[in-house]
Amino acid sequence: MFKNLNHLSEVEIETLMQRYYEGENVINLLKEYNLSVHANELYKLFPPEVCKEEICEYCKEYLIRDCLSKTARAWRHNESDMYCPVCNHRPYSHKCMCNNCVEKERLLAEYQREQIKKLCSQKRTPVDFSRISFEQKVFLGTLCRALCEENLFEIKPYIESGEKLAPTDELLSQIYKSLACNEIIAVSPTSSTEAFIIDDDDFPNRYYVYKVTYYINLVFPLDKKNLFDEILNPSYYSTEHEKEAFGLWRKIAIGECLEYLDYQFQKVGFDFTPGDKTYKTFDILLNDFSVSQIYGIIWKMVANASKRYLEGGISKKHAANSVISACERFAVQAKINNWSLKGYNRPKDLPQSSLSSFFFNRVLGIGDMGFKLPPTMMRLKNETFCFEK
Ligand SMILES: [Zn+2]
Ligand SMILES: [Zn+2]
Repeated sequence: MFKNLNHLSEVEIETLMQRYYEGENVINLLKEYNLSVHANELYKLFPPEVCKEEICEYCKEYLIRDCLSKTARAWRHNESDMYCPVCNHRPYSHKCMCNNCVEKERLLAEYQREQIKKLCSQKRTPVDFSRISFEQKVFLGTLCRALCEENLFEIKPYIESGEKLAPTDELLSQIYKSLACNEIIAVSPTSSTEAFIIDDDDFPNRYYVYKVTYYINLVFPLDKKNLFDEILNPSYYSTEHEKEAFGLWRKIAIGECLEYLDYQFQKVGFDFTPGDKTYKTFDILLNDFSVSQIYGIIWKMVANASKRYLEGGISKKHAANSVISACERFAVQAKINNWSLKGYNRPKDLPQSSLSSFFFNRVLGIGDMGFKLPPTMMRLKNETFCFEK
């Protein structure tokens, strides 16, 4: 009795295999061929199938595949079963872990790292902090407060930072665009390779804005800490910047109204697609009301619309679309009749963004008043109000 097929000729083995796959009784076959293996294991003794159309890219050998049991063969035999007998390379497997592929991957990663390093290490002219705009200073301060590394030089990737930089995606992208386009921040060579779009002819020129690490491209004085103090705990606001500050206050306020509308819509299952009209409406409302009061108006109008929808009077889309006009009408009435509108608080699960808190608390030093009062130039002109810290 034998435990392998060494006692058989090539032709005998071929016949045995054919008879096995044709379904002959295995016990009988084992007896006839003098084999002492378990019936379930016979197929494991068969020589592997050589795939003459497939060659290993590393060793130039034909790929092979192991024989399967007759039941397995009925439903499975696919390309990923093929492998190189020399290096074990599996060209059709999802992620081949043969030594050759692992090494190829390592070299590629090394090359990519070098390319990134080369690109990001290009010399840039550092920017003078005192010459950048008021808004850019606020944006930079926001970014540094939320995401600056210990080395006071690099800004961590926004993704997975857990920070909320701005109330809306649009404002978030404005922060990065404004700073990167003016080279106040630049992509750092220490960024992870995953932050770049790799399957792209343009590699490594295209990257994910919120995934890369940035460095701060400023002219640093000898004692870099002094400049950081000014970035993080600024004293640069003065009436000279009132116009810009007013513009930014309104931008943040509108962003917070849009964010709250989206939040309330989600609660009642309405779809939110803010257009120019929504933006314009909040812009007008902010002439007379604070963000906190507009939260109250939004809350009421969304509740009314949701009620009308649930009572079956109107479609969900119609209900959602009616909210903005209703806010506008309500605000007009409130103004004409001089109603005193109750201010709402920020919901606990809708925290203030880093931009908003940095701007109101640190730059203007007016804290909650940025939320509880309508933005006006008058207020910004009043220096005592502004510097009340
Ligand atoms: Zn190979
Ligand atoms: Zn491989």
